[in-house]
Amino acid sequence: MPTVYPVNETFLSWQGEGVHMGRKAFFIRLQGCPVRCDWCDSASTWHPSHVPAKVRKASPEELAAEAAESRPEFVVLTGGEPCVHDLKPLVASLAAVGLPAHLETCGAFDIPAGLAWVTVSPKWAKPPTSEALSSADEVKLIIEAPDSADRWTEAVGGGWSCSHVWLHPEWSKRGDAAVLSAITERVKRLGPPYRAGWQVHKPYSADSADPRARPPAPLGGDPSKGF
Ligand code: SF4
Repeated sequence: MPTVYPVNETFLSWQGEGVHMGRKAFFIRLQGCPVRCDWCDSASTWHPSHVPAKVRKASPEELAAEAAESRPEFVVLTGGEPCVHDLKPLVASLAAVGLPAHLETCGAFDIPAGLAWVTVSPKWAKPPTSEALSSADEVKLIIEAPDSADRWTEAVGGGWSCSHVWLHPEWSKRGDAAVLSAITERVKRLGPPYRAGWQVHKPYSADSADPRARPPAPLGGDPSKGF
């Protein structure tokens, strides 16, 4: 049975977060996520009130060909939670057209081999495995409260194995002085691996400049509400 993926959206933009921020990237956002964070910013991938009426189905070869047409530096596989799908055929198809695959995952599911970059963004609703944390090139902690980074550091046993642990304000808290101050103070107090982060593509509206992108669907802390 040939592999077919449910696709929420594809678009050309630039990476707005992390070590590769600012680089030309093609995004493939797959449908589906069982984690269900109440501040999810991609609710159209799973939230019953926001999933599209019709979801595109595409083969790995079709997605790789579409990505290659845009000539990106790399392709970001995201979701939803992309690792609920078997990503090996997609990673192989991207490699066949010369495109490195970067992954954004919560780290609770198996991560395929062959990726050029792995970003693990842990979620309390389904915490990451120790294997995922050790294979991460960078970790992105979503800071939803001033003690979020302390809680995550305690949850992983006090240490991180990668060189970059980004502290991102949860987007609906980006103006919350206590959250921002907690990030600043942690970086000033501890230095590496902690880095202050931001979702730079959002103020630019970089992703929505491509007509293939869906309108943003942030839950902002309450999944029962619309937007
Ligand atoms: S933030 Fe990520 S892990 Fe959480 S519900 Fe949304 S897509 Fe799933």
